[in-house]
Amino acid sequence: MFEFLKHITPRIKLLSLSILLIFLPGAIISYLSLKSIQDKAENQRIEYRGTADLVRDKLENELFQEETNFRNSAIDTLINLNVDSNKQSLLQSLELLNPTFKNLFLVTPDAGLINSSVTLGLRNPDAPQGLSVSPSTSRFSRAEEAEFIRRNYSDALSNYEKALAEANSPLDHALIQSRIGRIHFKQGKFKEGILEYKKLTGFEYEDITIGQVPASTVAYYQISRGYQALASMDDYQKNLLELYRQLLNNPWDLAGGEYLYYLRSATQELLDIASINQFTQAEKEKLDEWKIKEEELLESIKLMDIINKYLLNEIRSDLNSTLSSEIKHQLFQIEPDAAIELGYFHPPPTHQKSEIIALGFQYDEKYILTELFPRVLSTVELGKDISVGILNEKDSLLFCKETQQVTQYLVAENFKHSLHAWKVALFDTGGKTIEQLAGREKRLYLALFLGILAVMLIGIIVLARAVIHESEITRLKSEFVSNVTHELKTPLSLIRMFGETLDSGIVTEESKLKEFYSIIREESERLTHLINNVLDFSRMDSARKEYNFQETDLVLLVRHSLKAYKFHIHDKGFDIESKLPEDPVMVKIDKDAISQTLLNLLSNSVKYSDDKKHIQVEVCRSSGSAIITVTDQGIGIAREELKKIFDKFYRIPNANTRQSRGSGLGLTLSRSIVEAHDGNIAVVSEPGKGSTFTISIPLM
Ligand code: ADP
Repeated sequence: MFEFLKHITPRIKLLSLSILLIFLPGAIISYLSLKSIQDKAENQRIEYRGTADLVRDKLENELFQEETNFRNSAIDTLINLNVDSNKQSLLQSLELLNPTFKNLFLVTPDAGLINSSVTLGLRNPDAPQGLSVSPSTSRFSRAEEAEFIRRNYSDALSNYEKALAEANSPLDHALIQSRIGRIHFKQGKFKEGILEYKKLTGFEYEDITIGQVPASTVAYYQISRGYQALASMDDYQKNLLELYRQLLNNPWDLAGGEYLYYLRSATQELLDIASINQFTQAEKEKLDEWKIKEEELLESIKLMDIINKYLLNEIRSDLNSTLSSEIKHQLFQIEPDAAIELGYFHPPPTHQKSEIIALGFQYDEKYILTELFPRVLSTVELGKDISVGILNEKDSLLFCKETQQVTQYLVAENFKHSLHAWKVALFDTGGKTIEQLAGREKRLYLALFLGILAVMLIGIIVLARAVIHESEITRLKSEFVSNVTHELKTPLSLIRMFGETLDSGIVTEESKLKEFYSIIREESERLTHLINNVLDFSRMDSARKEYNFQETDLVLLVRHSLKAYKFHIHDKGFDIESKLPEDPVMVKIDKDAISQTLLNLLSNSVKYSDDKKHIQVEVCRSSGSAIITVTDQGIGIAREELKKIFDKFYRIPNANTRQSRGSGLGLTLSRSIVEAHDGNIAVVSEPGKGSTFTISIPLM
């Protein structure tokens, strides 16, 4: 199979080596770059992560700065604070000065909580649960006994009225007054009851409470009940609105839950009214305004609840373990999809005379996202197609530097210092992922790699063909040498043998002498023919062959050649049939060359015929050309060999060819001669039936 490799010449070896030297490194390099592209996405991710970290650090620094400023200014304020200062107004002014933080809260040593709108657990321990000790006490007890045990309401009423007259503290007064109202209600005298309760409505902003509840609130609540019982809807509605307003304006401590109870029932009743009765336009506007206020209030109440439940113990316990005022952060997952982050710090011990052990805050996310971060990010330059955004814990976009909507992010880095639920995310403005971005490059490299492989493959195929061709030529050349040597030796030894026989004078018989002479002439002619072929070939191969074109009658030329060769043909047992036109066919040719071509064809017909020894030669004209055809009934040529027989040194590898002598040059020469005459040579053949060679040369 690898027979041809034996004939590889140094030239081919050099060619192969150089191709290998060029392509091998090329293939290795492209393979390596293809491999490196695999890691490309990972590298790219690391790079983006670095950028996201930088952005995150920048945002966190800013936030940290804000926190530090806030803490320092708060500490400065706290030093001037004492037990009696109004802490809620302090918180309100701190909130105004520090928009990054909201819902500021203070923690007192007994675990009370204060924020700018409500307090929790700051119930005044001195708040009266019943009457203060006064002359009215015994009357009051008698009234209660009549009201609750004997259910003698008129007796109870008269006792309450007497107690009221004797009461000397405003708190006692308010308590007894409300009892009087209640007795009227119990008696079904709603109008009278309402009148009694109305006496308490002036106490809105005074610290007059019944139990923990402001007296005014109790009064409006009861008045609403009264009007409701009287089915006086307008009055009911008006008083309920007033109750709602007061609840929002003057929330009292949340402990005990009364405040929320009052607020909820007022809200519910307003809703019920709204469903059956119409509010006036002015009332509606007021209600809308208050609704917003209520929502804010409920939010801060909710926050108080969270702090109370989850953070207060920690704040109190770490007070003992730390002396620093460093800000601590806590993230609370209050609902599966809602987290709250709180920060707090302890004021230095020297500041704690105000009875504040911690000050805390919530981040104002809206301000941070719309003011603080955009300001920082406006100074960040990220490169052409990259944008930055902030994601929450559910990966939904809270803020993006670009206005366009992007869905997939490249990388996202968590905040570390504060705002732990948030991430800084980098986006490709085209919405691509890292894999998609790296994929584009990967495809490019893959195409390149495949391209190089293809080029290499083509190179190898070309090389292999060259190797096979070259080795074939080499093989043919060596075969040619042995053929030619054989070709030369045979006629030479024949000439010598017959020459010596003649020289010795033993042959005297006339016919024998003639035969010997003709053999010598024939063999020397063949020798000349062979040598001419070889010489011509070498001239043609090196393009040194010159032609002597002359106007010639082709019919005459063919007739002469046949005459000269006829003897040889007949000698071999062939009969020759010639079809030549009467009138001359004029062409401009090299006479010797064309007759050499004709002889080549005739000699092939002789060599490659078996038993059917018939040759036909014809000359004719056909559309501007002179045609010579030589037809035999010999062995014929297989279809696949037809093209190759004109190649130099080529001889069809079969038994006939091996038996006959030849150089594989005859047809090569014939074709190049005919082509030098602007003509062409063709063959039609069928194995076993014979071949027809046609030469056509342009007419003059
Ligand atoms: P050579 O005859 O010296 O071998 P040629 O170039 O004249 O070289 O011919 C090339 C080959 O073509 C021959 O070896 C032979 O196999 C084939 N061939 C040429 N002429 C004929 C023909 N008339 N019939 C059959 N085979 C032929």
